[in-house]
Amino acid sequence: MNKITNHLPTAELQALDAAHHMHPFTSDAALAKRGARVITAAKGVWLTDSEGNRIIDGMAGLWCVNVGYGREELAEAAARQIRELSYYNTFFMTTHVPAIALAAKLAQLAPGDLNHVFFASSGSEANDTNIRLVRRYWDIKGQPEKRVIIARRNGYHGSTMGGGSLGGMTYIHAAGGKIDGIEHIGQPHWWAEGGDMTPEEFGLMRARELEEKILELGVEKVAAFIGEPIQGAGGVIVPPSTYWPEIQRICDKYGILLIVDEVITGFGRTGNWFGSQTFGIKPHIMTIAKGLSSGYQPIGGSIVCDEIAHVVGSADDDFNHGYTYSGHPVAAAVALENLRIIEEDGVIDHVRDVAHPYLAERWHALADHPMVGETKLVGLMGALQLTPNKEKRAKFAAKPGTVGLRTRERCFRNNLVMRHVYDRMIISPPLVITPEEIDVLIARARLSLDEAY
Ligand code: PLP
Repeated sequence: MNKITNHLPTAELQALDAAHHMHPFTSDAALAKRGARVITAAKGVWLTDSEGNRIIDGMAGLWCVNVGYGREELAEAAARQIRELSYYNTFFMTTHVPAIALAAKLAQLAPGDLNHVFFASSGSEANDTNIRLVRRYWDIKGQPEKRVIIARRNGYHGSTMGGGSLGGMTYIHAAGGKIDGIEHIGQPHWWAEGGDMTPEEFGLMRARELEEKILELGVEKVAAFIGEPIQGAGGVIVPPSTYWPEIQRICDKYGILLIVDEVITGFGRTGNWFGSQTFGIKPHIMTIAKGLSSGYQPIGGSIVCDEIAHVVGSADDDFNHGYTYSGHPVAAAVALENLRIIEEDGVIDHVRDVAHPYLAERWHALADHPMVGETKLVGLMGALQLTPNKEKRAKFAAKPGTVGLRTRERCFRNNLVMRHVYDRMIISPPLVITPEEIDVLIARARLSLDEAY
């Protein structure tokens, strides 16, 4: 076999890929029909593929490359750490400086008394940690029957058995089942489900489903509620303004732990360090991953409030949970350097400056397109709702995703990465995107819409 490098012809790379590489969320049939696009390099917000195309990445990879691709400082941080201490674990009463420094930095950045970090290598793993953490907390508090976690339909919390069960995506539940003790309530998706209500009325109604579910199950059975400040993978569903205050009120009233999954919304995406700050939420646990290292290393974690950390840590026996790579020194060193860049380069100020009014004006102007029913944008996270009839907020009658697939195909051909969730087109570009690059993104999005119409 030839040595496999970027220099092989694309068709050969694609054939090897289809033969040996099982892709996430992809069917073999799709890969066999058309080979995967082979990405060979990236810099800033630009990807290059094996055919030499320059593609603008409107999704920051998978919502993660917050500081943009190809940063020398991050390469240096990884190389330095590999030379000094390439690996050691944090089990059995040992620790190391990168894990200590990153945990301390996160405690400083996170709001309120979120002062304790349990590391993982991904958002899914961190949410699995959260299931154990909240159940352990109530066990130690003498309420072991408090085990149920309430989540939302169409929420996304990862694809491990735990994360996938917390998520409300039925096609993931269908892939091997769902663990016990997780219940789902409706999502605050006004455009699709709000009927004649105002967004504010609908937001309240959906939040109050939490209270109804708590009362139906019995408060003595409910451990926690989990939600993303903005549902990302569900289609960038921005909740009405009434939603989160009501969820907070209900959690406070019934003493239910509040887990906020900030895997996408963390580290500047919404114009603050965390989406909880943008929406005024006070969580007991925050899930983090993705933008923590800008995707340069796999790392995630749970940032936990004083009360839960003290209770879980107060037991005589161990908290029997952890990963070989919890607090991996190279991942931690890269994450620390990434946080330094976000802070010292003023990346979050840049998000605010570039999002409003520059991107916002251009993004919301896409609402004049006959196929766009709703435009949403918070910081650098946006959605376009496609519809055959804006006034009626109609859905395309064809198979879900048909129009989405058509625009996805056009975006692909126009060298624009936008994600399509059924009939919503979404963006989440690197936070360092410039106004000139925003112009390119908008022009290619409009062209793709026109071609798909
Ligand atoms: N939580 C949210 C909100 C996510 O968007 C994701 C991934 O997209 C996850 C959890 C899972 O993270 P990972 O893919 O790193 O396991």
